[in-house]
Amino acid sequence: MSDPVFDTEIAIIGAGPVGLFAAFQAGMLGLSAVVIDALDFPGGQCGALYPEKPIYDIPGYPRIDAQDLVARLAEQAAPFKPRYLLGRQVTALQPAGVGWRVVAGDTMVTVRAVIVAAGGGAFGPNRPPLQGIAAYEGKSVFYLVRRREDFRGKHVVIAGGGDSAVDWALSLAEVAAKVMVVHRRPKFRAAPESERRLNELAGGGVVELVIPYQLHGIDGANGQIDTVVVQDLDGGERRLPADVLLPFFGLSTSLGPIAQFGLDLEHHHVIVDPATCATSVAGIYAIGDICSYAGKLKLILTGFAEAASAAHAIERRLNPDRPLHFEYSTTRGVPAG
Ligand code: FAD
Repeated sequence: MSDPVFDTEIAIIGAGPVGLFAAFQAGMLGLSAVVIDALDFPGGQCGALYPEKPIYDIPGYPRIDAQDLVARLAEQAAPFKPRYLLGRQVTALQPAGVGWRVVAGDTMVTVRAVIVAAGGGAFGPNRPPLQGIAAYEGKSVFYLVRRREDFRGKHVVIAGGGDSAVDWALSLAEVAAKVMVVHRRPKFRAAPESERRLNELAGGGVVELVIPYQLHGIDGANGQIDTVVVQDLDGGERRLPADVLLPFFGLSTSLGPIAQFGLDLEHHHVIVDPATCATSVAGIYAIGDICSYAGKLKLILTGFAEAASAAHAIERRLNPDRPLHFEYSTTRGVPAG
């Protein structure tokens, strides 16, 4: 970032689908925004966990891939030129005059209101306890798949027995040279139809089920693995030649620094007034998966409505003397466009 300190009206913490839509809603009300995310790409869960999966319950889209939804949300907000600070975790919110100072890495942003759209908080993979694995992460060991094309022609070892392991085994079988699925028991914790398809594919040569085995070690050099070592329950070892290891043991989420913001929490969620999405701290709002109120549905479409409620509440808070004429977008158009 060229300027480590700057001012804007709203800081949106989280560039998931809900945070991105909040940037649009803020813009429609003439409020400037910065969108900050710990990940170095936008989209939250849609971008990190299921970019190539279709979503079927976004109004107006009978079917849209998660990554396309993210791209369209960014395009929708673009006329308002929100600033993006990606790859930076917000670690602190400090009172500053009538607003807040948001600390994100080496950047500080002074804002008049904050929207927390942080989903489940900072999420990270459950890492298998393999010696030296850190040296391979991001090079040949990945905890999520962003583009399945990256695996074309590769020998892929997938470890795990849940939906992610099974779904990606099925998907990568279409592009990889070989997919080996390491699991410690024959039964998977996946959708029965997906498990049936995996077992069917396992007879065909591309997919091999390495069962009952667990990860034991990796060999390679300069970040590139060449062998995944697995062990059965009696200590019997197999060495699987591999270009890539995908351990899918789930994600752990933690509110991280958000738990220290002084907001009222309930079961790791931020309690809000559903009419405005205001939290217990004046000037801080929470929307999307992270917020909690009676009847809350953790759906993208619910988060979109919360983004609109929060943006209007912020406009009323920041500009109490400005008469608010509620207007449809069809009436106003996109003011910045
Ligand atoms: P998120 O998408 O979780 O984004 C939050 C962002 O905040 C993350 O990028 C995170 O890095 C960032 N963040 C957190 N803490 C900080 C911090 N301190 N500093 C900076 N950044 C921070 N929903 C549907 O409506 N329909 C579906 O079909 C559907 N399918 C799904 C399928 C799967 C496999 C999964 C896992 C979820 C699915 N969901 C679906 C749920 C949907 O993805 C979530 O409801 C949605 O992503 C919530 O959006 P969000 O913007 O609130 O949070």
